[in-house]
Amino acid sequence: MEFKTIIEPFKIKSVEPIKISTPSERKIYLENAKYNPFKLESDQVMIDFLTDSGTSAMSANQWAGIMIGDESYAGSKSWEHMHSTIKDLTGYHHILPTHQGRAAERILYSVLGGKGKVFISNTHFDTTRANIEYTGATAFDIPIPEATHPKDYHPFKGNMDIEKLEDLILKHRPENIGCVILTVTNNSGGGQPVSMKNAKDIHSVCKKYGVKFFLDCCRIAENAYFIKHREKEYEDKTYKEIAQEMFSLADGAVMSAKKDALVNMGGFLAIEDEKLSEKCSSLLIITEGFTTYGGLSGRDMEAIAIGLKEIFEPDYLLYRIKSTAYLGEHLDKMGIPLMLPIGGHAVYIDAKEMYPHIPVNQYPGQALVCELYLKGGVRAVEIGSVMFGKYDKAGKLIPAQMELVRLAIPRRVYTQSHIEYVIEVFSKLIENKEYVKGYEITYETEYLRHFTAEFRKL
Ligand SMILES: *Cc1c(COP(=O)(O)O)cnc(C)c1O
Repeated sequence: MEFKTIIEPFKIKSVEPIKISTPSERKIYLENAKYNPFKLESDQVMIDFLTDSGTSAMSANQWAGIMIGDESYAGSKSWEHMHSTIKDLTGYHHILPTHQGRAAERILYSVLGGKGKVFISNTHFDTTRANIEYTGATAFDIPIPEATHPKDYHPFKGNMDIEKLEDLILKHRPENIGCVILTVTNNSGGGQPVSMKNAKDIHSVCKKYGVKFFLDCCRIAENAYFIKHREKEYEDKTYKEIAQEMFSLADGAVMSAKKDALVNMGGFLAIEDEKLSEKCSSLLIITEGFTTYGGLSGRDMEAIAIGLKEIFEPDYLLYRIKSTAYLGEHLDKMGIPLMLPIGGHAVYIDAKEMYPHIPVNQYPGQALVCELYLKGGVRAVEIGSVMFGKYDKAGKLIPAQMELVRLAIPRRVYTQSHIEYVIEVFSKLIENKEYVKGYEITYETEYLRHFTAEFRKL
């Protein structure tokens, strides 16, 4: 028998209370936070959609793993567990544990990067780009053209533009390419999936020119879900088999375990090439830790090993993708302008279209983030000109390409009624949307200003 309702495939054993606040309390909290939700205290937030990174609920099995974590400096059993799990999944021979994704990135890109080197990706995640540019290298994003049109449907909007890839390799010459990085799913491109066909095409182009190909595999299980259900020839494969096939096309991978490994901290770097892994291991020992822990506790490694298996369970993935889509589809039906189709880990709202009366230099995304908090105690993040805006020489704002607001859904944390509540908050929000005002920045830092900026309501 088929049912329409997909239930959370877990029971709740341990709970964390949510403090229910009133609109008048939230008004004061937000004023004190200078209209920047990053400055709110977590117990002032009712539903926290700031990020899906490191915010997953661990399973009873993972918590049991925490207790049996082996804290030996060298040759820990928990490392053995993490190592064999990643080896089985990725097929790569050399696995380096790191304290989070960006540590793996820093190690890999400082070995492959440097002045004159070029990196090419569907979209570099911000820490990826920062680590590449820090070495003096250049990073190019080449998503397919559909990626920047929020409303156009494409089943794999995270794909890389293969023609541009070949052009860039030829233009900069193969020997200058640090590597090609495929981010699955494409986080900065709206959490959109990448097809196996695209990964195969990238593999062929890289092979033809002798260029290295790495996966940024933070959300490879969520990506595998989309491949199984949207790419015909994969419908009979398991999610793990799909991920394994994608790993087999690349020379290695970096992962932030804070995403699809269902843990609160951790990451790894996996490499096939022995020489490259030796160079990376030296850096690992200098800055992260010995090769059998790399900045992680034994208990962290145990939890990662277990999480990497749980993430491929079909009931979990069905619930994960369908529950994200459920929120998106209801907001879409209500007329909230969204990035479509809905990706794996988040729903993105087009704030420029939602508040057409607020000019970009008055930050429509920030206005929406503040409204969501004031109305419902929901915390989201602006991904627009507050985050990516720059100034020209005359001090005029050069806006970001899009003014988005992201609702990132933590894994296994919120139930259906939390989501119903958020949908209801939006229904209240559209009632008076013409009256919402923009903001101006009263304080900002030179880099990553969105974390600490202060605002004034106009
Ligand atoms: C989160 C993330 C990273 C960085 O990982 P951290 O664990 O936050 O350091 C890199 N790439 C992608 C695609 C990510 O989502």
